[in-house]
Amino acid sequence: MALTHLMIMTENVVAPMCYYRAEKNQPFTGFIAKERLTEAIAFAAAQNLSVNYLLGDHHLPDDLLDLMAQSGGAFISPVSVSQVRPATVVIRLSEDNLVNLNESVDNVILLVPKTALAQLANGITLLSHLTKRINVILEDIPQFTGNEFWTYTEQLEQVIELLIAAYSRHHIFEVSVLSDRLMLGDMNNCNAGIDHVTVAPDGALYLCPAFFYHDPAHSIGHLRDGLQQKNSHLLRLDHAPICRACDAFHCKRCHFLSVTTTGEIHIPSRQQCLLSHIERDASRRLLHRLHTMGLFAKLPAIPGVDYLDPISKTLRLLYQ
Ligand code: SF4
Repeated sequence: MALTHLMIMTENVVAPMCYYRAEKNQPFTGFIAKERLTEAIAFAAAQNLSVNYLLGDHHLPDDLLDLMAQSGGAFISPVSVSQVRPATVVIRLSEDNLVNLNESVDNVILLVPKTALAQLANGITLLSHLTKRINVILEDIPQFTGNEFWTYTEQLEQVIELLIAAYSRHHIFEVSVLSDRLMLGDMNNCNAGIDHVTVAPDGALYLCPAFFYHDPAHSIGHLRDGLQQKNSHLLRLDHAPICRACDAFHCKRCHFLSVTTTGEIHIPSRQQCLLSHIERDASRRLLHRLHTMGLFAKLPAIPGVDYLDPISKTLRLLYQ
Protein backbone atom coordinates (compact mmCIF):
# COMPACT_ATOMS: atom_id res chain seq x y z
CA MET A 1 0.00 0.00 0.00
CA ALA A 2 1.33 3.44 -0.89
CA LEU A 3 0.80 6.90 0.57
CA THR A 4 -2.40 8.52 -0.69
CA HIS A 5 -2.98 11.41 1.75
CA LEU A 6 -1.08 14.18 3.50
CA MET A 7 -2.62 15.68 6.62
CA ILE A 8 -1.49 19.27 7.15
CA MET A 9 -1.75 20.81 10.63
CA THR A 10 -2.60 24.46 10.02
CA GLU A 11 -1.64 25.46 13.57
CA ASN A 12 -0.12 23.82 16.63
CA VAL A 13 -3.48 23.15 18.38
CA VAL A 14 -5.74 21.43 15.86
CA ALA A 15 -9.14 19.88 16.50
CA PRO A 16 -8.85 16.19 17.35
CA MET A 17 -10.24 14.00 14.59
CA CYS A 18 -9.23 10.85 16.39
CA TYR A 19 -7.67 9.79 19.71
CA TYR A 20 -4.98 12.48 19.79
CA ARG A 21 -5.19 15.61 21.94
CA ALA A 22 -3.07 18.69 22.41
CA GLU A 23 -2.01 19.20 26.03
CA LYS A 24 -4.72 20.86 28.08
CA ASN A 25 -4.19 24.64 27.92
CA GLN A 26 -1.48 24.24 25.30
CA PRO A 27 -0.82 27.80 24.12
CA PHE A 28 -1.48 28.73 20.51
CA THR A 29 1.90 29.52 18.98
CA GLY A 30 0.72 30.53 15.52
CA PHE A 31 -0.34 29.23 12.12
CA ILE A 32 1.79 27.29 9.70
CA ALA A 33 3.95 29.80 7.78
CA LYS A 34 2.87 30.52 4.21
CA GLU A 35 6.20 29.28 2.83
CA ARG A 36 5.87 26.03 4.81
CA LEU A 37 2.32 25.54 3.59
CA THR A 38 3.46 26.06 0.00
CA GLU A 39 6.21 23.48 0.60
CA ALA A 40 3.72 20.99 2.05
CA ILE A 41 1.33 21.43 -0.89
CA ALA A 42 4.23 20.90 -3.32
CA PHE A 43 5.32 17.78 -1.35
CA ALA A 44 1.80 16.37 -1.74
CA ALA A 45 1.58 17.29 -5.43
CA ALA A 46 4.95 15.68 -6.21
CA GLN A 47 3.69 12.37 -4.78
CA ASN A 48 0.15 12.71 -6.06
CA LEU A 49 -1.27 12.84 -2.52
CA SER A 50 -4.67 14.26 -1.58
CA VAL A 51 -4.49 16.88 1.15
CA ASN A 52 -6.55 17.18 4.34
CA TYR A 53 -6.22 20.41 6.32
CA LEU A 54 -6.58 20.07 10.09
CA LEU A 55 -7.90 23.32 11.59
CA GLY A 56 -7.88 24.62 15.14
CA ASP A 57 -10.08 27.11 16.94
CA HIS A 58 -8.44 30.19 15.42
CA HIS A 59 -9.67 31.98 12.34
CA LEU A 60 -7.22 31.46 9.50
CA PRO A 61 -5.66 34.45 7.74
CA ASP A 62 -7.01 35.02 4.22
CA ASP A 63 -3.69 34.37 2.45
CA LEU A 64 -3.43 30.88 3.99
CA LEU A 65 -7.08 30.16 3.25
CA ASP A 66 -6.67 31.20 -0.37
CA LEU A 67 -3.66 28.95 -0.78
CA MET A 68 -5.52 26.00 0.74
CA ALA A 69 -8.60 26.62 -1.37
CA GLN A 70 -6.47 26.73 -4.56
CA SER A 71 -4.85 23.41 -3.68
CA GLY A 72 -8.26 21.72 -3.61
CA GLY A 73 -7.79 19.89 -0.26
CA ALA A 74 -10.48 18.87 2.22
CA PHE A 75 -10.98 20.58 5.59
CA ILE A 76 -11.46 19.11 9.04
CA SER A 77 -12.68 21.91 11.26
CA PRO A 78 -13.92 22.35 14.82
CA VAL A 79 -17.60 23.30 14.98
CA SER A 80 -16.58 26.65 16.53
CA VAL A 81 -14.95 27.75 13.25
CA SER A 82 -17.49 28.23 10.48
CA GLN A 83 -14.99 30.00 8.24
CA VAL A 84 -14.52 26.95 6.04
CA ARG A 85 -17.37 24.96 4.53
CA PRO A 86 -17.81 22.32 3.29
CA ALA A 87 -15.76 20.65 5.96
CA THR A 88 -15.87 17.62 8.17
CA VAL A 89 -16.97 19.15 11.44
CA VAL A 90 -15.49 18.07 14.79
CA ILE A 91 -17.79 18.36 17.79
CA ARG A 92 -17.42 17.11 21.37
CA LEU A 93 -20.54 15.53 22.79
CA SER A 94 -22.31 17.87 25.20
CA GLU A 95 -25.68 19.59 24.94
CA ASP A 96 -24.05 23.02 24.69
CA ASN A 97 -21.82 21.94 21.83
CA LEU A 98 -24.53 20.16 19.86
CA VAL A 99 -26.69 23.27 19.66
CA ASN A 100 -23.70 25.03 18.04
CA LEU A 101 -24.21 22.91 14.94
CA ASN A 102 -27.12 24.59 13.23
CA GLU A 103 -26.40 23.74 9.61
CA SER A 104 -26.31 20.52 7.60
CA VAL A 105 -22.86 19.03 6.99
CA ASP A 106 -21.83 15.85 5.17
CA ASN A 107 -19.63 14.47 7.91
CA VAL A 108 -19.39 14.91 11.66
CA ILE A 109 -16.62 13.64 13.92
CA LEU A 110 -18.31 13.18 17.29
CA LEU A 111 -15.85 13.12 20.20
CA VAL A 112 -17.34 11.27 23.15
CA PRO A 113 -15.70 11.84 26.55
CA LYS A 114 -16.04 8.99 29.05
CA THR A 115 -18.26 11.24 31.17
CA ALA A 116 -20.72 11.72 28.27
CA LEU A 117 -20.85 8.08 27.16
CA ALA A 118 -24.40 7.66 28.47
CA GLN A 119 -25.49 10.55 26.18
CA LEU A 120 -24.18 8.91 23.01
CA ALA A 121 -27.54 7.75 21.61
CA ASN A 122 -29.13 11.14 22.36
CA GLY A 123 -26.29 12.94 20.63
CA ILE A 124 -26.56 10.72 17.56
CA THR A 125 -30.34 11.27 17.47
CA LEU A 126 -29.80 15.05 17.35
CA LEU A 127 -27.04 14.87 14.75
CA SER A 128 -28.91 12.41 12.53
CA HIS A 129 -31.06 15.31 11.28
CA LEU A 130 -28.02 17.34 10.26
CA THR A 131 -25.57 14.95 8.67
CA LYS A 132 -25.25 11.83 6.53
CA ARG A 133 -22.38 10.37 8.56
CA ILE A 134 -21.33 10.44 12.19
CA ASN A 135 -17.82 9.22 13.00
CA VAL A 136 -17.81 8.27 16.67
CA ILE A 137 -14.48 8.77 18.46
CA LEU A 138 -14.44 7.60 22.07
CA GLU A 139 -12.13 9.53 24.38
CA ASP A 140 -10.28 8.25 27.47
CA ILE A 141 -10.17 4.67 26.09
CA PRO A 142 -7.16 3.59 28.22
CA GLN A 143 -9.25 4.38 31.33
CA PHE A 144 -12.25 2.28 30.27
CA THR A 145 -13.38 -0.34 32.79
CA GLY A 146 -16.36 -2.72 33.00
CA ASN A 147 -18.83 0.14 33.57
CA GLU A 148 -17.88 1.99 30.41
CA PHE A 149 -17.95 -1.16 28.29
CA TRP A 150 -21.42 -1.92 29.62
CA THR A 151 -22.69 1.63 29.06
CA TYR A 152 -21.28 1.63 25.53
CA THR A 153 -23.02 -1.69 24.74
CA GLU A 154 -26.32 -0.26 26.00
CA GLN A 155 -25.92 2.94 24.04
CA LEU A 156 -25.16 1.05 20.81
CA GLU A 157 -28.33 -0.97 21.37
CA GLN A 158 -30.28 2.30 21.40
CA VAL A 159 -28.48 3.48 18.26
CA ILE A 160 -29.44 0.21 16.53
CA GLU A 161 -33.11 1.00 17.26
CA LEU A 162 -32.61 4.53 15.96
CA LEU A 163 -31.05 3.26 12.71
CA ILE A 164 -33.78 0.63 12.22
CA ALA A 165 -36.51 3.26 12.70
CA ALA A 166 -34.75 5.73 10.38
CA TYR A 167 -34.04 3.16 7.66
CA SER A 168 -37.65 1.99 7.69
CA ARG A 169 -38.56 5.63 6.86
CA HIS A 170 -35.86 5.62 4.11
CA HIS A 171 -33.77 8.07 6.11
CA ILE A 172 -30.31 6.64 5.52
CA PHE A 173 -27.35 7.88 7.54
CA GLU A 174 -24.22 6.18 8.81
CA VAL A 175 -22.82 5.80 12.30
CA SER A 176 -19.21 4.68 11.81
CA VAL A 177 -19.00 2.23 14.70
CA LEU A 178 -22.07 0.31 13.46
CA SER A 179 -22.26 0.97 9.74
CA ASP A 180 -18.66 0.48 8.63
CA ARG A 181 -18.32 -3.19 9.55
CA LEU A 182 -21.45 -3.98 7.50
CA MET A 183 -19.75 -2.95 4.27
CA LEU A 184 -16.28 -4.40 4.87
CA GLY A 185 -14.89 -7.76 3.81
CA ASP A 186 -11.32 -6.94 4.73
CA MET A 187 -9.32 -4.83 7.16
CA ASN A 188 -9.84 -1.10 6.78
CA ASN A 189 -7.86 0.41 9.66
CA CYS A 190 -6.55 3.91 10.25
CA ASN A 191 -3.33 3.12 8.32
CA ALA A 192 -1.36 6.07 9.70
CA GLY A 193 2.15 5.88 8.30
CA ILE A 194 0.99 3.55 5.53
CA ASP A 195 -1.49 5.52 3.42
CA HIS A 196 -1.22 8.90 5.17
CA VAL A 197 1.26 10.92 7.18
CA THR A 198 0.97 14.28 8.94
CA VAL A 199 3.01 17.41 8.55
CA ALA A 200 3.33 19.65 11.62
CA PRO A 201 3.43 23.47 11.33
CA ASP A 202 7.26 23.37 11.42
CA GLY A 203 7.45 20.98 8.45
CA ALA A 204 8.32 17.85 10.46
CA LEU A 205 6.50 14.66 9.42
CA TYR A 206 4.71 12.30 11.84
CA LEU A 207 2.71 9.09 11.59
CA CYS A 208 -0.26 11.17 12.80
CA PRO A 209 -0.85 14.23 15.03
CA ALA A 210 -0.88 12.00 18.13
CA PHE A 211 2.85 11.38 17.81
CA PHE A 212 3.51 15.11 17.36
CA TYR A 213 1.64 15.88 20.58
CA HIS A 214 3.08 12.92 22.48
CA ASP A 215 6.69 13.72 21.72
CA PRO A 216 7.94 15.84 18.80
CA ALA A 217 11.04 13.63 18.77
CA HIS A 218 8.82 10.94 17.18
CA SER A 219 9.15 12.69 13.84
CA ILE A 220 9.58 10.41 10.81
CA GLY A 221 11.22 12.97 8.56
CA HIS A 222 10.80 16.50 7.27
CA LEU A 223 9.29 18.07 4.17
CA ARG A 224 12.84 19.07 3.22
CA ASP A 225 14.32 15.56 3.27
CA GLY A 226 11.28 13.34 2.85
CA LEU A 227 10.19 10.36 4.95
CA GLN A 228 12.80 8.52 7.01
CA GLN A 229 10.67 5.88 8.67
CA LYS A 230 12.40 3.19 10.73
CA ASN A 231 10.75 -0.19 11.26
CA SER A 232 7.81 0.77 9.08
CA HIS A 233 7.09 -2.94 8.55
CA LEU A 234 5.72 -3.01 12.13
CA LEU A 235 2.79 -0.85 11.00
CA ARG A 236 1.64 -3.46 8.53
CA LEU A 237 -1.11 -5.94 9.26
CA ASP A 238 1.08 -8.92 8.35
CA HIS A 239 3.39 -7.95 11.26
CA ALA A 240 0.53 -7.64 13.78
CA PRO A 241 0.00 -11.19 15.09
CA ILE A 242 -3.27 -10.52 16.93
CA CYS A 243 -4.85 -8.18 14.38
CA ARG A 244 -4.11 -10.31 11.32
CA ALA A 245 -6.32 -13.11 12.70
CA CYS A 246 -9.12 -10.69 13.60
CA ASP A 247 -12.24 -9.76 11.64
CA ALA A 248 -13.22 -6.51 13.38
CA PHE A 249 -12.48 -5.04 9.97
CA HIS A 250 -13.64 -1.51 10.91
CA CYS A 251 -11.25 -1.26 13.91
CA LYS A 252 -8.89 1.72 13.84
CA ARG A 253 -6.00 -0.47 15.04
CA CYS A 254 -4.61 2.75 16.42
CA HIS A 255 -0.79 2.65 16.59
CA PHE A 256 -0.72 5.48 19.10
CA LEU A 257 -3.08 3.67 21.50
CA SER A 258 -0.96 0.54 21.09
CA VAL A 259 2.32 2.32 21.86
CA THR A 260 0.93 4.17 24.87
CA THR A 261 -0.83 1.14 26.39
CA THR A 262 1.27 -1.92 25.50
CA GLY A 263 4.54 -0.22 24.59
CA GLU A 264 4.52 -2.00 21.20
CA ILE A 265 3.23 -0.40 18.03
CA HIS A 266 1.96 -3.73 16.64
CA ILE A 267 0.35 -5.09 19.85
CA PRO A 268 -3.10 -3.56 20.48
CA SER A 269 -4.52 -2.50 23.81
CA ARG A 270 -7.14 -4.75 25.39
CA GLN A 271 -9.51 -1.77 25.57
CA GLN A 272 -9.30 -1.17 21.82
CA CYS A 273 -9.98 -4.83 21.08
CA LEU A 274 -12.96 -5.06 23.47
CA LEU A 275 -14.54 -1.89 22.09
CA SER A 276 -14.10 -3.01 18.48
CA HIS A 277 -15.69 -6.35 19.30
CA ILE A 278 -18.60 -4.73 21.11
CA GLU A 279 -19.11 -2.70 17.91
CA ARG A 280 -18.63 -5.77 15.71
CA ASP A 281 -21.31 -7.67 17.60
CA ALA A 282 -23.69 -4.69 17.57
CA SER A 283 -23.13 -4.42 13.78
CA ARG A 284 -23.94 -8.13 13.49
CA ARG A 285 -27.24 -7.63 15.34
CA LEU A 286 -28.08 -4.54 13.30
CA LEU A 287 -27.48 -6.34 10.00
CA HIS A 288 -29.55 -9.32 11.13
CA ARG A 289 -32.48 -6.98 11.87
CA LEU A 290 -32.05 -5.20 8.53
CA HIS A 291 -32.01 -8.53 6.69
CA THR A 292 -35.29 -9.58 8.35
CA MET A 293 -36.77 -6.29 7.05
CA GLY A 294 -35.57 -7.16 3.53
CA LEU A 295 -32.97 -4.37 3.60
CA PHE A 296 -29.29 -4.62 2.58
CA ALA A 297 -29.91 -8.20 1.44
CA LYS A 298 -26.70 -8.23 -0.60
CA LEU A 299 -24.49 -7.61 2.44
CA PRO A 300 -23.20 -10.91 3.87
CA ALA A 301 -24.23 -11.73 7.44
CA ILE A 302 -21.58 -11.18 10.11
CA PRO A 303 -20.88 -14.45 11.93
CA GLY A 304 -21.24 -14.61 15.71
CA VAL A 305 -18.08 -15.31 17.72
CA ASP A 306 -17.67 -16.61 21.27
CA TYR A 307 -15.07 -14.07 22.41
CA LEU A 308 -14.78 -10.32 22.91
CA ASP A 309 -11.01 -10.23 23.17
CA PRO A 310 -9.39 -11.53 19.95
CA ILE A 311 -6.31 -12.66 21.87
CA SER A 312 -8.45 -15.72 22.73
CA LYS A 313 -8.71 -16.55 19.04
CA THR A 314 -4.98 -16.02 18.50
CA LEU A 315 -4.12 -18.32 21.42
CA ARG A 316 -6.51 -20.98 20.14
CA LEU A 317 -4.90 -20.83 16.68
CA LEU A 318 -1.47 -21.14 18.27
CA TYR A 319 -2.23 -24.10 20.52
CA GLN A 320 -4.87 -26.08 18.64
S1 SF4 B 1 -9.99 -5.56 17.51
FE1 SF4 B 1 -7.90 -5.73 18.33
S2 SF4 B 1 -7.03 -7.44 17.19
FE2 SF4 B 1 -8.85 -6.76 16.02
S3 SF4 B 1 -8.04 -5.27 14.53
FE3 SF4 B 1 -8.69 -4.12 16.37
S4 SF4 B 1 -6.83 -3.89 17.59
FE4 SF4 B 1 -6.44 -5.55 16.10
